[in-house]
Amino acid sequence: MKITTKGHELSTAVEQVVQLFFDVRSDVSAECSVEGGISSASVTAGGLTGRGSWPVPENAGKKELSNAVKKSVLLACKEISNMPTPWGISTGIRPAKLARMLLDEGRTGGETVSLLQSEYWIEPDRARLSLDVALREKDIISLAGEKAVSLYVGIPFCPTRCAYCSFISQALTHNNKFLYPYVDACEREIRRCGEIAAELGLRPISAYFGGGTPTAIPAELLERLIRTLKSSFDMSDLRELTVEAGRPDTLTPEMMAMLSKNGIRRISINPQTMHQITLDAIGRRHSPEDVERAFELARREGMEIINADLILGLPGETPAMLDETLDRVTALSPEAITVHTMYLKRAARLRGDFEKLRFAENVNEMMELCRRRMREYGAEPYYMYKQKNTLGNLENVGFAKPGSECLYNVYIMEEVHSILAMGGGASTKLVRGDRIERIFNPKEAGDYVNRIDEIIQKKEFIKEFLAQN
Ligand code: SF4
Repeated sequence: MKITTKGHELSTAVEQVVQLFFDVRSDVSAECSVEGGISSASVTAGGLTGRGSWPVPENAGKKELSNAVKKSVLLACKEISNMPTPWGISTGIRPAKLARMLLDEGRTGGETVSLLQSEYWIEPDRARLSLDVALREKDIISLAGEKAVSLYVGIPFCPTRCAYCSFISQALTHNNKFLYPYVDACEREIRRCGEIAAELGLRPISAYFGGGTPTAIPAELLERLIRTLKSSFDMSDLRELTVEAGRPDTLTPEMMAMLSKNGIRRISINPQTMHQITLDAIGRRHSPEDVERAFELARREGMEIINADLILGLPGETPAMLDETLDRVTALSPEAITVHTMYLKRAARLRGDFEKLRFAENVNEMMELCRRRMREYGAEPYYMYKQKNTLGNLENVGFAKPGSECLYNVYIMEEVHSILAMGGGASTKLVRGDRIERIFNPKEAGDYVNRIDEIIQKKEFIKEFLAQN
C-alpha cells in the first residue's frame, strides 16, 4: 500500500481506514492532504479511484484533525467498495474504550451514544452496544484495588492445528520433545514473577491459563503449573482462576478430575460450531457430541462457570446453521458465550479463501442473530474487541449471565492494571498511569525453553517500571 500525505503527518490514520476496505498487500494507493481547513482524500484500488473530503474544525487538536482525515479517507473508500463499516472511523481494537472515555468525561449514556454516531460514524446498534459494554466494564473495573494485577500463563500446545489459526506453528502435543522442558522452564518463570510481585506488594485479582490449549498437555504437567502459580503469588484477593479447555477432545475424565481437585471452577469449552462438516473443514478433530460429553463431565466435576466460544463466518456456514448451533449450545446452559467473527492471519491455511469470504454478507446477519438469541438467553454483552481482517469489519463480543463475566477478559482488554504473563507467547502488559510497557515472550515452545534465562532476566523490568508508582 502506498500512502502520501500533505499538510499533516497522519499516515497511520489513513492506513487504518484503508485497511478496513482493502488488503494492505494489494495494489492500493491513498493520498490525503489537509489544506484550507479541508481534508481531501483520494484512494485507488483495482483500477478504480474514489474521492472524499471533510472539513477540519477550527482550532482542531490532534484528535479532531485525525477524525477529519479518517472521515475523508472513509468517504473515498466507500466510493469504490461496498465493504460495511459498522464501526465507522473507530479503528481501534477496543471500541468500548471510546464509550468509557466519554462516560468518564461526564457524558450521559444518551450523549455518549449520540457522540459515537455523530463524531465517529458508528452505527446506532454498535453505539448502543459500546455503551452497554462500557457500563458493565466500569462495574468490573471498580472491583480492582490499587495493587491489583492479573496473571496469565500461556501454554502453546494443541492436539492438532485448526486451519484458521496461526498462533502455533509446530507445538502439537503429540511426541513433542519440548513438553517436559517447557513445563520446567515455565515453572521457573512463574516463581520469579511471584517473587517480583511479592517485592512490589502486587495482589492478583484474576488469573487465566490460555494458549494454545492448556488441557492439551498431560494432566500431571498442567497440575504442576497450576500448583506452582498458586503457591508463588499471594492469592488472597484472587476472584477467579480460569483454565481454557478449548478443545473438547482434550477433556478426559482424568483431566477434569485434576482441574476440580485443584479448585478450578471456571473453564472454557469451545465448540466454535456444532456442525461436523464445518469442524472437519477447519481441522478440529472433535465432534459436536464431544462438546456435549465435555460439558456433562465438567458439570459432574463441579465446574460452576463454563464459557463456550463460537465463530461466525466459518466456511460454508449460514445463519440457519448458526441458529442450530445456538440451539445445541444453549441447551448445555453455559454461563457465558463468546462470539468471534472469523478472521484470518497471514499464515492461516484458509488465507486463499479470504477474499471470497471477506464479503460474506450473512456474517452481519449472524451477529444480529447472536445478539437476539443472547438477549433471549439472558446473557448480556460485557466485553468486546475488534481484530483486523474480520469478515464485514465486525466485532468479537463476550456475553455472560449476570455475575458470570470473566473479569480477566475485561482487565486484559481495557488496560486498567498490569498483566503479568508467563509462558510461551505470553505478553506482559505493565500499566502505570497512562503509560503502558510490554514484555513479549517467544511463542514457540522450543524457543521459549532455549531462551528461558533471558526471558526471566527481562522480567526484572517489572520492578523498574512498577516501583515508580
Ligand atoms: S485450538 Fe486455538 S490455538 Fe489451538 S490450533 Fe486451534 S485455534 Fe489455534
